[in-house]
Amino acid sequence: MEGRSEARELPTESILGRLSSLNLQPGDVRVFTDLPADFNPLQPDGDEIEGPIKVTSYSFAHEVNPTITSGQSREASVNTVVNRRVHVPPKQLLKCSSCGGNESQKLYYCPCGEVRYCSTACQKSDWPLHKSACGPTTRIDIDKFYPFLAMLVELSRAHSAMPKHPATFKTVLNLPAPGTPPTVLPSGRRAVVVAVGGKPRDVPSPDPSWWPSAPNDYVRNKLWLRIIREGHLLPILSALCFALVSEIYTTTSQGKRGTPRLRLRYLSHPLADFGICRGTAKVTPQDTLAYVDVSSSPERVWFGQDPTEHYWLYFTAANGEEVYLDCGLFAFNMTLSVQAGAYADGLPMNHFPAWFRERLFHKETQELRAEVKRRSALRSAALADALASGHDVDVGVFSKFMKAVAGRDVGKEESELAKTLWLWQAGQVRDMVRSDAWKLWPTEVPLVTVADQGELDDFDDPNTDWAIKLREWKDAHKGIGKNRRRR
Ligand SMILES: [Zn+2]
Ligand SMILES: [Zn+2]
Repeated sequence: MEGRSEARELPTESILGRLSSLNLQPGDVRVFTDLPADFNPLQPDGDEIEGPIKVTSYSFAHEVNPTITSGQSREASVNTVVNRRVHVPPKQLLKCSSCGGNESQKLYYCPCGEVRYCSTACQKSDWPLHKSACGPTTRIDIDKFYPFLAMLVELSRAHSAMPKHPATFKTVLNLPAPGTPPTVLPSGRRAVVVAVGGKPRDVPSPDPSWWPSAPNDYVRNKLWLRIIREGHLLPILSALCFALVSEIYTTTSQGKRGTPRLRLRYLSHPLADFGICRGTAKVTPQDTLAYVDVSSSPERVWFGQDPTEHYWLYFTAANGEEVYLDCGLFAFNMTLSVQAGAYADGLPMNHFPAWFRERLFHKETQELRAEVKRRSALRSAALADALASGHDVDVGVFSKFMKAVAGRDVGKEESELAKTLWLWQAGQVRDMVRSDAWKLWPTEVPLVTVADQGELDDFDDPNTDWAIKLREWKDAHKGIGKNRRRR
């Protein structure tokens, strides 16, 4: 038991404590509560938000989500690590698992989701073989589940182990407000420059002293949110993938009448794979930030989030279809986000960035990424071996995984950050599984954008291309919802 208490040094309380001192409050809240009268954010269904969004009032760190602070949660973090077998689903299920019937036939999934048959006759004849592998299975649809993942990404950014952004400890000296043209930097690349300097600030917060010349609170808070959401995508997303493998894909069903095991699906198809993609985010210099620290000599210049080293998650269904989750675009001023309310009860946050690119969204929107490399987490033999070894997962497993995605060496600090985040996220995923919290999540994910002032002025006009696209997208989405219910 002595050893166990040491593992508790990743307590959720301190993470939530960081939230109160770091970033998600009060600046986050002011984004929505201090809206100027003429500001009009739009929800993707085309409904304008009337006046400021009601934000849950909160009193900071002591007001926390009971599912996160329960004793179970801490046990979960402790017990996450050891001696569990990863059950890797079949890579593709395009043929009858019994007769091998061809792909054009209509195939039915066995309730376990790991075999498909063309007929009940095939299912019956395969049963003696399949029986021992079959078990009751609950499947969560990834397009309802992704907000939870996006929330863990956002909370990871506020984890006490996360390095703090240097610009939050300085004063912003220039006017990098919306509309500021990009500057050519010494490297030849272009970005909007944020000049920082002045006396170091002890407690980073987006109060007026952080950016005294900001046009107003809204613009200041928006820039703050972009800055604190820069970087660290690789360790955060690696941790998240590992947490899904360790907490969901090691579960087994307890016999026919027992607790079903949990798996992920996309529409009617079980997921066969997920992991991380690396590539380029197709953003403009206008949406990219660079920093010049004028208080250092010589002046230090550095890029914010690098669009050429961008990371996102992929999920592949057993029919080969892929969907993507990108939580790293807010730093580039692409602000599509999930409203936090239904997922983050009691947490001091009101939205978290997430671009979930699924079938319909895919058709309707421009591709924002160019993939260079990917790495599977679910099908990683190294991770499966590590989880089954009966010991704490070695930090080297994280280094190797991240190196394979990044195509560069990954330092000790970054690897240890990934492991620390994994332990914490794994506790959150396990709590979610145990509490069945996902059953209360909305079937229609509530989305918002955090626009620049003036950016959406023509949203009043329902005849703009954009407004029409949104309506079409929404209508098509409703159709899909009906099909799902019929199933
Ligand atoms: Zn068959
Ligand atoms: Zn089965």
